[in-house]
Amino acid sequence: MPTREHLIYNPARECMSRDELRAWQGARLAETVKREYENVPMYRARMDDKGVKPEDIRSVEDLKYLPFMEKTDLRDYYPFDLLASPRSEIVRIHGSSGTTGKPIVSGYTANDVEVWSEMMARTLTAAGCTKEDIVHVSYGLGLFTGGFGAYQGANRIGAMVVPMSSGNTQRQIMMMKDLGSTILCCTPSYATYLGETIREMGLVPGRDLKLKAGCFGAEPWTEEMRLRIEELLGVDACDIYGLTEIAGPGVAFECLEKHGMHINEDHVIAEIINPATGEQLPYGESGELVFTTITKTGMPMMRYRTHDICTLTDEQCACGRTLARMGRITGRTDDMLVIRGVNVFPSQIETVLVSTHGVAPHYMLIVDRVNSSDTLEVQVELTEDMFGDTIGHMEAVRKHITNQIKSVVGIATKVSLVPPKSIPRSEGKAKRVIDKRKL
Ligand code: ADP
Ligand code: ZN
Repeated sequence: MPTREHLIYNPARECMSRDELRAWQGARLAETVKREYENVPMYRARMDDKGVKPEDIRSVEDLKYLPFMEKTDLRDYYPFDLLASPRSEIVRIHGSSGTTGKPIVSGYTANDVEVWSEMMARTLTAAGCTKEDIVHVSYGLGLFTGGFGAYQGANRIGAMVVPMSSGNTQRQIMMMKDLGSTILCCTPSYATYLGETIREMGLVPGRDLKLKAGCFGAEPWTEEMRLRIEELLGVDACDIYGLTEIAGPGVAFECLEKHGMHINEDHVIAEIINPATGEQLPYGESGELVFTTITKTGMPMMRYRTHDICTLTDEQCACGRTLARMGRITGRTDDMLVIRGVNVFPSQIETVLVSTHGVAPHYMLIVDRVNSSDTLEVQVELTEDMFGDTIGHMEAVRKHITNQIKSVVGIATKVSLVPPKSIPRSEGKAKRVIDKRKL
């Protein structure tokens, strides 16, 4: 077992006092605002509208005077109008997996790629990765930031990296076994799929595979899902968070305490706001997460509204890091389903399903409107054992799930049990909601 120091990549930065950190952030925030004001006409106009000058922003306290940025800004100023550096300084483009319209793209300078690599080196180190490790990357390598992020982080540590990208699950597992991969990077939904396939191939993690930890993220998951993955793969499953606009994966990462994700606050400032009013909320309160990049030069983001909902805490973590932590993403301001006037987050339903014996962690939520009333159908997959079971027993499981959802979410749902393997598997981010009201 490595000692604790081996689990912190850059102690000088990850463990500095909160006062030191505030001072560091204030200085870099001031520089970034100046750069943005001078180079990005759209943001200059927005600051002028609010009557804010770059000189007004001197410390983290002043952040609240700055205007927000939104995902729509990246669409409206696509592809290069938000660059704060000359085009010739941009060495990389990444884009989000958005399914409609133009992708969201971000330009990275060499500096930005370095910053991001360091964030990912910290992330992997926190999960126990050293240069002795073999990092198996099943996040897609491409415009999507997941694969490149993990690849760069492993490179920075000097670990051996296997850039598998996504797809071809059996081959992934063969390589994992032959090479003796120790760290897995992929989405949590793909991790469960890998885990199931490993078992189907007659392999036993721990005996045939050497996996010890995984950095799983890019989509929301629950504590129950973590336990499932840890059991399936025999690993410590750590959460990792990021978004293309800010850096890619590694903006925040979990240490082995598995108690919230440390935010790389020497590179980004995090705020929680009331999504309705835009007002800052104190640590501990749940609201929309907002990021300001303070070391990025290509396409800095100022008070970027993520639409992700979570809480923040600056309580000291047992791992020794002083970096504040964000809780799991409990939903999105825009993905939140409103069903018969009730706010429903898919994560609430996932929690119920994953903790029910006999069902697999694969589900689909189908929302519709029948006779001007909203309906929610929860399709959930049975395990092989349960599928062969008596009708009476299956019906008991169905009733149990229906009651649990009713008590957690507060609305009645139609629960349908579907055969094993009938819900499409995803190699990247899982699509779990079909809202027919929007079609
Ligand atoms: P992509 O990741 O497909 O390139 P985005 O950059 O748009 O596209 O994805 C970022 C979004 O993914 C975040 O705003 C968040 O909603 C979601 N996400 C990323 N990591 C996590 C995580 N660990 N938990 C929950 N949601 C996450
Ligand atoms: Zn920690």
